[in-house]
Amino acid sequence: MWSYQHSTFQIHQLPALNDNYIYLIEATTCDVLAVIDPADASIVNQACQKLGKPLTHILNTHHHWDHTDGNQALKQRWNCTVLGAAHDAERIPCIDVKVLPEQAFQLGDLAVNILDVGGHTLGHIAYVLDDALFCGDALFGAGCGRIFEGTLEQTWQSLQRLAQLDDDTKVYCAHEYTLPNLRFARAVDANNEALKARIHRDTQTRMQQNPTIPSTISIEKATNPFLRPLDADFCTEYAQSNHIDDTALNVFTHLRQTKG
Ligand code: ZN
Ligand code: FE
Repeated sequence: MWSYQHSTFQIHQLPALNDNYIYLIEATTCDVLAVIDPADASIVNQACQKLGKPLTHILNTHHHWDHTDGNQALKQRWNCTVLGAAHDAERIPCIDVKVLPEQAFQLGDLAVNILDVGGHTLGHIAYVLDDALFCGDALFGAGCGRIFEGTLEQTWQSLQRLAQLDDDTKVYCAHEYTLPNLRFARAVDANNEALKARIHRDTQTRMQQNPTIPSTISIEKATNPFLRPLDADFCTEYAQSNHIDDTALNVFTHLRQTKG
């Protein structure tokens, strides 16, 4: 378990399954102990025990099983409140509170904002608490989720929404996919110095068996191939070498289809 101090809460990062991360948000000024995307109930239970606190909320970013499998057992054990996108109410086990994109709400003392990040799934949402972003499978370290339900255009809109967050926003995504993603990034963005530095840094981090997550919005904007289309020079260069139009959406589409 790795822990990170934020203004009025701590975030605990729990590895689960092969490459998932589950996050616990432990408020410092109220009783809230919330979990984001509990892939595995027993891992969450162990962490709650260690913290000596009951689980109060489950927040789901989307309905996929590796993000919701723990819902039922945790609900049973803690009688916690389950929040998820209204759009996916039927697909999220034990949902109590159906939330809408762009909605803001309080979790005890903690203010939460919701962003629509549809694409990977149609109802995919992200949760923003102060400078912490929980984006599930919408944005990864140096990558983004495969588009199972949405359109390329919708996914590009979603990524642009995330890119508008403050540069120092911490990106707590749901999988440790960074190193394989960086291999693709290097292939399509070979001259990017920030990318080279990140590859060096994240490779070291993984060798020491530490997470490359959280990263930040500024790191992702500088190195994530699926946010690089925000940079006009990158678009021009990429479009030229791939013989496509240099609009950001075109470049994003080509990158997403090339990665497969
Ligand atoms: Zn997913
Ligand atoms: Fe996932």
